[in-house]
Amino acid sequence: MNQEDLFKKLTAHCKEYGYVFQSSEIYDGLSAVYDYGQYGAELKNNIRKYWWDAMVLLHDEIVGIDSAIFMHPTVWKASGHVDAFNDPLIDNKDSKKRYRADVLIEEYIEKQQEKINKEVAKAARRFGDKFDEEMFRQTNKRVIDIAEKTGIIKKRFVDASENGNLEEIRQIIIDCDIADPVSGSRNWTDVRQFNLMFDTKLGSVSEDASKIYLRPETAQGIFINYMNVQKSGRMKLPFGIAQVGKAFRNEIVARQFIFRMREFEQMEMQYFVRPGEEGEWYEHWKEKRMRWHKALGFEESKYRYHDHDKLAHYAKAATDIEFLFPFGFKEVEGIHSRTDYDLSQHQKYCGRKLQYFDTELNKSYVPYIVETSIGLDRMFLAIIAASWEEEKIRKENGSEDERVVLRLPPSLAPVKLAIFPLVKKDGLPEISAKIRDDLRFDFSCQYEEKDSIGRRYRRQDAIGTPFCITVDHQTKDDDTVTIRHRDTMEQERVPVKALREIIGEKVSMKKMLQSL
Ligand code: ATP
Repeated sequence: MNQEDLFKKLTAHCKEYGYVFQSSEIYDGLSAVYDYGQYGAELKNNIRKYWWDAMVLLHDEIVGIDSAIFMHPTVWKASGHVDAFNDPLIDNKDSKKRYRADVLIEEYIEKQQEKINKEVAKAARRFGDKFDEEMFRQTNKRVIDIAEKTGIIKKRFVDASENGNLEEIRQIIIDCDIADPVSGSRNWTDVRQFNLMFDTKLGSVSEDASKIYLRPETAQGIFINYMNVQKSGRMKLPFGIAQVGKAFRNEIVARQFIFRMREFEQMEMQYFVRPGEEGEWYEHWKEKRMRWHKALGFEESKYRYHDHDKLAHYAKAATDIEFLFPFGFKEVEGIHSRTDYDLSQHQKYCGRKLQYFDTELNKSYVPYIVETSIGLDRMFLAIIAASWEEEKIRKENGSEDERVVLRLPPSLAPVKLAIFPLVKKDGLPEISAKIRDDLRFDFSCQYEEKDSIGRRYRRQDAIGTPFCITVDHQTKDDDTVTIRHRDTMEQERVPVKALREIIGEKVSMKKMLQSL
């Protein structure tokens, strides 16, 4: 299946099975805003918990807060967002489509990289065991040519971005012969800056109402509470503050479903460290966050780091953890070494000291910060994409069938266990309901009695439920049920009283957390 079709199927699946709906759908939708349905909300809760527990529960030195979305407008002046939280936009005059100019260039660079990789793969096939990749990259004329040209473009792009040189950004698009991906046209407008922050008014009378912003990141809520938390918690450096919450960005181009939304949720952790130790901590968190992703058990080849060439106004070093979505490797999480920029700026604007007294060094300073910032919605999409599978299966009678299965990590699955009476009579529904009532304190359970058992299995496969329990007539005699495993479709007979332990072990988050 091509990746575009796969992506369409994923989005359709999310809607059909109550994971994600377009916001305001009955009014034809609101662009790049989505609602989570009955299963989506549960999956999101579970991902949030996995992150929160990995950060807060497992670290003595990390605490969690919940700051307000609205903040004093000066916060955004100090942080640099009012002046610099811009994306360069460009319009195509023929198709009337709008693009992020930086993304067009980044995608061009990525394509050149792919061209090189293809040459390498071709040569590797041709030369077999004798292939020396390093040597090939250094000597093959075509590879050298592409790499050199791309290097020059990259450098021009980084310089232009750092200097806010919009004319040069446009010139790069022209020089690289970049066409509108939809229409193929190269008829571009000038590049303009566009601020991504949403604003609104605080106060009831319009004359004295002041302009405030919907936060475009949760991080600032942490910085402005740094002193409160440090003092009230008597925190010693290094320590971290974690937070999960909504963020809002008026994205120029909002496609790709919940990958890029205008209202989304971030899970951020700011780690406050001694100046000079930020490099070490940056490496530490880079590695630790990758472990968190890989502990989910998806293919390791779906993850990679991507170091930034172009740094944000506050950053000293930055890397993305990228995930292989159906539309290519894209960022799910950023790890940034933010220096003392944020606290120093707030210190300057608020006129109060935001320092830390280091008793070991016997001096005060503004701590440095290493940040980990992950989008909950993007993580959700990555998990759905990695879990979704259309699988061919052979039925008992030898014929072929197909099922759609969501192979979610059991600890994240919205429903852990579905309980079915084989038939809707003979007391089987009552026994099933009793099992559910007993287990619902431990796991999210679902009771279903409609349709054939086969159809009920299929529906739970599509929802991603790891276990289905069937209560039949034998249950009445010996208190056993069949338990059916989502991934293998294997069934086994087990005593009712063993269910809690069998399922509990498999759906616990503990194993994942222990491996971090
Ligand atoms: P991008 O380059 O994709 O716009 P970014 O580098 O601006 O992302 P950050 O500011 O580093 O993103 O935000 C941290 C995380 O928040 C990202 O890794 C991503 O998972 C998430 N995120 C950012 N913007 C959006 C959005 N519009 N919709 C959903 N998630 C987002």
